[in-house]
Amino acid sequence: NKPLSQFLKDAATEFPNKKAIYFLGKELTFQEVYVQACKIAHYLQEIGIKKGDRVSIMLPNCPQAVIAYYGVLLAGGVVVQTNPLYMERELEYQLNDSGTKVIITLDLLYPRVSKVKPLIKSLKHIIVTGIKDYLPFPKNLIYPFIQKKQHGMVVKVEHSGTNHLFTKIIETGRIDEIEMEIDAKEDLALLQYTGGTTGFPKGVMLTHYNLVSNTLMCAKWMYQSKRGQESILGILPFFHVYGMTTVMNLSVLQGYKMILLPKFDIQDTLKTIQKQKPTLFPGAPTIYIGLLNHPDIGKYDLSSIDCCISGSAPLPVEVQDQFEKVTGGKLVEGYGLTEASPVTHSNSLWGERINGSVGLPWPDTDAIVLSLETGEPVEAGTIGEIVVKGPQVMKGYWNRPEETAAVLKEGWLLTGDLGYMDEEGYFYVVDRKKDMIIAGGFNIYPREIEEVLYEFEKVQEVVVAGVPDPYRGETVKAYIVLKEGVTCSSEELDQFARKHLASYKVPRIFEFRKELPKTAVGKILRRALIDEEREKQK
Ligand code: ATP
Repeated sequence: NKPLSQFLKDAATEFPNKKAIYFLGKELTFQEVYVQACKIAHYLQEIGIKKGDRVSIMLPNCPQAVIAYYGVLLAGGVVVQTNPLYMERELEYQLNDSGTKVIITLDLLYPRVSKVKPLIKSLKHIIVTGIKDYLPFPKNLIYPFIQKKQHGMVVKVEHSGTNHLFTKIIETGRIDEIEMEIDAKEDLALLQYTGGTTGFPKGVMLTHYNLVSNTLMCAKWMYQSKRGQESILGILPFFHVYGMTTVMNLSVLQGYKMILLPKFDIQDTLKTIQKQKPTLFPGAPTIYIGLLNHPDIGKYDLSSIDCCISGSAPLPVEVQDQFEKVTGGKLVEGYGLTEASPVTHSNSLWGERINGSVGLPWPDTDAIVLSLETGEPVEAGTIGEIVVKGPQVMKGYWNRPEETAAVLKEGWLLTGDLGYMDEEGYFYVVDRKKDMIIAGGFNIYPREIEEVLYEFEKVQEVVVAGVPDPYRGETVKAYIVLKEGVTCSSEELDQFARKHLASYKVPRIFEFRKELPKTAVGKILRRALIDEEREKQK
């Protein structure tokens, strides 16, 4: 029943001098992160932020993203994570919908933010920082000058900081601790907009209790690691709840060092793993696939990696096996959704795990499968909608009581995902309710077809979608990205698919692409491809 910011306060007490963040060659300790977060919190309060006020953070993974997040929480504010790739229209929607009062963003993004500012009545302040402002870290926090060697002579130069407001706050802000009364079960910590894979993003209200619970579950269930002794690769963006919980909040709770990368670049990631030797690597299927398909992967030493958890989309079994071979570590699949902070299930890294299954419900989490026809629980092995209950389940959607009532029933969250449970209680996600293809009267699950096509050696990435068809209602179409340097025809794929699938499931159309549209966590945007197809057919 504690506020989420307690994690950082405790880490600063327990591990004051331990490294909390590594970023582009520079490091910050837990104490430094805490002190700087307090300064941001004081500043926010000085400019009028009160408990429950929304403050948006629009940053890639960098030290400021962590400091700003905990700063907002310490001030009693509600974090609204905003994707730095958002264009004006998306930004305007989210800032208005959330009633954001302050936004903390990058200098590079300032032109976009300032352009939409007049359209957002609630928005009063923009706090700017720069990706390089922490390089070197503001040493003048401790020393007013830094020593620099120039032409062989040691000269004193003023700190190379910028005029950015964020830097000024860090340099001059109040460092005393900040106390805020938080009712963990009631008060919001986060307004997290859903990925928008299936429609307009909705603000998911997550309380301190929701996020604290999910992070504690993660620590208990995932890693039998010693507090303060692991380092974790931070590629998953913190502006998405998956990276926020399983990398950022977990690290702060457990005293792990976060090795941050501002964006997913395959070569950079391989180099960083080799040099920084992270032990934990939460990711998403497209991240692991990207790394595995890099021609130089064999040249890098990735053996530091012990444990990986993959979420956000189905993990092809092939990818799991290969990644484990390359690293020597374990990779298990989990499942969740923004509305559940986000994780509800995963395989265990230590106990029995079942490839192809998303595992067991996490501690304190209940899960059942309900019939699509009757709404009653179904028997093991029967497909229905996965429904979950637990302390990580959201309070509701922001300002959307009808949408909330449609998915939250007596504490149970209807996930919108189709799946089944086996006799041992392991869960399998078959597909999204909305993604199921109905072609010529047959129910077809895209994931099953994708799994088959992933087994074809020339395929790097594939997504299957139901596209409009005048005769069958919908027809199955596969979008394929081939491995580098190979050629392949639709016939080859068709022949392969026919060997493994009933004919009504075999894609009628194969389209080859250089890349596929993806969300910030690397989830393939199936909906964007279907919309494209609809537009073409108009
Ligand atoms: P929106 O809800 O706006 O459409 P989104 O789906 O991207 O956007 P998220 O909350 O980020 O929102 O994603 C949650 C969804 O991701 C789940 O409902 C499920 O469909 C899918 N998912 C997550 N993990 C897995 C997994 N291991 N296997 C299959 N699907 C998964």
